[in-house]
Amino acid sequence: MSRPMGDSHKRFLQTLMSNGIISSIQAKALHRHCCETHGAHYSADRLDEFIDVINANLQPMFMYIRKGMSEEDGVQYYALVNTAETDITRMSSDYADNELELFRKTMDLIVDSENGAASSTDVLNCADSLQTKKMKKKETELVLNKFVQDKWLNEKQGVYTLSTRCIIEMEQYMRLIYQDLIKVCHVCHNVAIQSQICENPTCGIQMHLPCVAIYFKGRSDPLCPACNQFWAHEIPVVTCTLSRPPEANGEAEL
Ligand SMILES: [Zn+2]
Ligand SMILES: [Zn+2]
Repeated sequence: MSRPMGDSHKRFLQTLMSNGIISSIQAKALHRHCCETHGAHYSADRLDEFIDVINANLQPMFMYIRKGMSEEDGVQYYALVNTAETDITRMSSDYADNELELFRKTMDLIVDSENGAASSTDVLNCADSLQTKKMKKKETELVLNKFVQDKWLNEKQGVYTLSTRCIIEMEQYMRLIYQDLIKVCHVCHNVAIQSQICENPTCGIQMHLPCVAIYFKGRSDPLCPACNQFWAHEIPVVTCTLSRPPEANGEAEL
C-alpha cells in the first residue's frame, strides 16, 4: 500500500493540474507553500520524495507527475502525464475535431522539420486542407493562439515549436506515431525536437541547444561527442537558469 496523500500533496497536485505545467523553481516554492499551509513536515531536499507519494497514489488512475526539460533554455519542468490516453484525443474536451486535426498537422510539420519548428505560413497552408472542416485564416490564427495559451505550442516571431508541456505529456504518443523520426538527445537522453544534428552521415546524433551550450562550454574545439568529428554548427549561447544557486530559487510566484 502506498502512503496516503496528505492535504499538502493534494494542494500541490491541484495547483499543478490548474497550471498544466510548472518549472522546478515553482515546484520548489509550491512544495514549501503546501507543507507550510497544511502544517506538514517540510524539507527542501525532499521534493522528489514528496512527488513520489503523489505518483504512487496517481498510479491506479494511470497518471503521474513527470519531469522534463525545456528545449529552449534547459530549465526543468513538471507536468502531469496520462498514461492511459496516449493520443491527442486527451485534448478533445477542450478542442473541436478540426482544431485537433490542425494540432496534429502542426506537430507533423514540426517533427518532420530539420530544426524542430514550423512557420505560421506553413501551418496556415495546412489549415486549408483539413479533412474534418476547413478553417479560414483568421480562425486558424485564433486556434493557434489558444494552443499557445494552453501551453501546447510555443510561438516566437511567427515560428511555432512544441512546448515543454507538449513534449512531456505527448512523448509516448509521438514515439508511437513518428517512430524513428523521434530521436533522443545524446547528452540528456530526453526526446530531442529542437536540436542540432551531427553532420557526419554515419553518425547523426542529436543534441538540444541548451545541451550543446553546456557540453561545449570551455572547449576550444567543438567535436562531436560520439564520432569526434568537427561539430559544424554555431554553438548557441543559452541564457539559462541552470547555474543559478538553489538558494536563489526562493519564492517564485505561480
Ligand atoms: Zn539534451
Ligand atoms: Zn557525430
